[in-house]
Amino acid sequence: MIALYIHWPFCKSKCPYCDFNSHVRASIDEARWRAALLRDLEYYAGLTRGRAIGSIFFGGGTPSLMSAKTVGAVLERAAALWPLEPDVEITLEANPTSVESGRFREFRSAGVNRVSLGVQALEDDALRFLGRGHDAAEAVAALEVARRTFARFSFDLIYARPGQTVASWEQELDRAISLAGEHLSVYQLTIEAGTAFAPAHARGDFILPDEDTQAALYETTLARLEAAGLPAYEISNHARPGAECRHNLVYWRYGDYVGAGPGAHGRLTLGAARVATRQYRAPETWLDAVERVGHGGEEPTALTPREQRDELLMMGLRLVEGISRARLRERLGLDLETALDPGRVAPLVEAGFLELDEKHLAATAAGRQRLNAVLSRLIG
Ligand code: SF4
Repeated sequence: MIALYIHWPFCKSKCPYCDFNSHVRASIDEARWRAALLRDLEYYAGLTRGRAIGSIFFGGGTPSLMSAKTVGAVLERAAALWPLEPDVEITLEANPTSVESGRFREFRSAGVNRVSLGVQALEDDALRFLGRGHDAAEAVAALEVARRTFARFSFDLIYARPGQTVASWEQELDRAISLAGEHLSVYQLTIEAGTAFAPAHARGDFILPDEDTQAALYETTLARLEAAGLPAYEISNHARPGAECRHNLVYWRYGDYVGAGPGAHGRLTLGAARVATRQYRAPETWLDAVERVGHGGEEPTALTPREQRDELLMMGLRLVEGISRARLRERLGLDLETALDPGRVAPLVEAGFLELDEKHLAATAAGRQRLNAVLSRLIG
């Protein structure tokens, strides 16, 4: 089974914290974009013939700015090119503005069966700071429309914002829990190079909570959501058991996925090789390439066994379930002791950042909180 990711690279405005491949354009020729996405799908169907699709994810950018006609055309073409699993999960990311939630029924008619809303905060001051185009009341209203329209919905929150305390976050989380369905994504605010927040933060325009407060906010998130029946299954993702995002699990379990659209990445097993696919990031470069040569990226490149091992660890240790020995053998043909240097693993286990047993290797909650540091000791 494979997963299919479709990237829609446009947003109404650029949020100051965002380093995604998202762009603002005064206008776009949607029919041209639709035709290019369909052609890109055909290219990937040629590489993956005979595989079935278990999930489709429209991400961005803001895919809820696409018309339902484009979403429907992509889904129709995907169903014509690949067999779809009967319970295929089809997610669309959406911003919780009234305009976009007004189109949820059309998206559902087009085939979408799950939405993920970029709520980000339930306080108006925080939403203004994050440069969002909605206020808290609009977000709550959009969540209600999502609940009425889709069997499955999720929303995102951002914590560790300036001035946030554990007490204020607990209140906001409780409100979020009362609005939640089966799934919540809760991300820590980080300052990424190239965003509008990077120079503002460097100038001291705002101050993030210190490390201890960040750790306390993370631990509060884990405990509060777990108590509400939404335990973490990944660093930032929480779900009722069985309601995890199947699409994202494919990435974290290092499965195969097609990435179509500007900047999208894919990982595919082609014969004996595991390859990476990368699409051109700049929207117009991608569009031009698809129209000229039928797809918008470089040729797939084979990953070395070492690259595969590193990627599998980087993805798998994000998950609470970690990496099973069986998966490692299936993916890399190795057992854990051969894949990793036991001299690097042991101190991380001893320090309480990793767990290793006869079934799996996993990061503990403390390990997941500082996963980059753990990974650099493990494989750096
Ligand atoms: S709406 Fe989402 S993708 Fe677009 S700029 Fe904001 S955070 Fe980035």
